[in-house]
Amino acid sequence: MNTLNIKENEPMKSHLSFRAGGNARYFVEVNNADEILQAKAFASENKLPYFMLGNGTNVLVSDSGFNGLIIKFGKALAETSFEESVDFLHVKVGAAAVLGVIARKAAGLGFGGIHLLAGVPGTIGGAVYMNAGAYGEEIANCIESVEALTVEGKVVTHAKEECEFGYRTSAFQTGNKFAGELILGCTLKLPKGESAEVLKSEIDAAMQKRKASQPLDKPNAGSAFKRPATGFPGALIEQAGLKGYRIGDAQVSEKHANFIVNLGNATATDIEALFEYVQKEVFAKTGTMLEREVIILK
Ligand SMILES: Cc1cc2nc3c(=O)[nH]c(=O)nc-3n(C[C@H](O)[C@H](O)[C@H](O)COP(=O)(O)OP(=O)(O)OC[C@H]3O[C@@H](n4cnc5c(N)ncnc54)[C@H](O)[C@@H]3O)c2cc1C
Repeated sequence: MNTLNIKENEPMKSHLSFRAGGNARYFVEVNNADEILQAKAFASENKLPYFMLGNGTNVLVSDSGFNGLIIKFGKALAETSFEESVDFLHVKVGAAAVLGVIARKAAGLGFGGIHLLAGVPGTIGGAVYMNAGAYGEEIANCIESVEALTVEGKVVTHAKEECEFGYRTSAFQTGNKFAGELILGCTLKLPKGESAEVLKSEIDAAMQKRKASQPLDKPNAGSAFKRPATGFPGALIEQAGLKGYRIGDAQVSEKHANFIVNLGNATATDIEALFEYVQKEVFAKTGTMLEREVIILK
């Protein structure tokens, strides 16, 4: 029996950190393995694509909406267990857990490795998919294995080596070998830090750095573009004279040029047009083609 509470024409604005974008034809929050399978079955019975949403901090849904099913994991899929050994903390964590919460809890126990990622606002699922990183840390450095549900509906455990982690990439991304799999959780092995106090002061310093350099007071989706082989996107965008450039209410942040912000009423169309304009202008003026980090769902 289908026990899912599937919503129709769900506005995605409230689910995305950009606070912009269109509707999902169907949207469902699932809280256990059976509901996940039911959601996948619903999509396949209706011949619709499905898209797994984490915290929506790296995604934009186009104004015309997504003609498919968006699946979001509920809090019940955030279960976390910690097991301490002498030098490491072993963490088994569900995909819906918030990365920053886990990073802080581990730091409180005296274990680092991901503590500088405390300010990344995504889930563990999103962090594994994107191989989230900041200030010299990447979640992949501490991953032992990833548990996932295959396209065929089988629960599997992938060793870290199979997950093809690279700079903001993994095997789970579109076009890669585990594309379409739902990440259920992962196991992390976190190294002992100097002390909980030192780790906390490092977290505080990283958070201060973010506050000072990023437009956290305006809706955004983190870094707009990935770091190219040479240079930094922010510097290249500034070099192209685009800091503060606007299309509608979408703006290249005046605080950090590698952030696109929503000044209030930006549409996804404005934001997408600004991404494209920045790519075109930066390429024309510097010869570097920037690659978008934010995922646009159409
Ligand atoms: C203010 C701000 C600061 C940020 N700073 C950083 C930073 O320092 N470093 C950094 O790396 N990123 C940063 N980001 C970007 C973003 O937080 C990360 O990319 C994060 O890992 C995305 O997680 P999420 O849960 O929000 O995923 P979403 O944005 O919801 O999804 C991102 C992708 O992951 C996929 N996905 C999510 N969960 C699952 C799952 N369970 N199974 C399969 N696929 C899944 C989605 O389908 C989508 O393709 C920042 C964003 C903001 C808004």
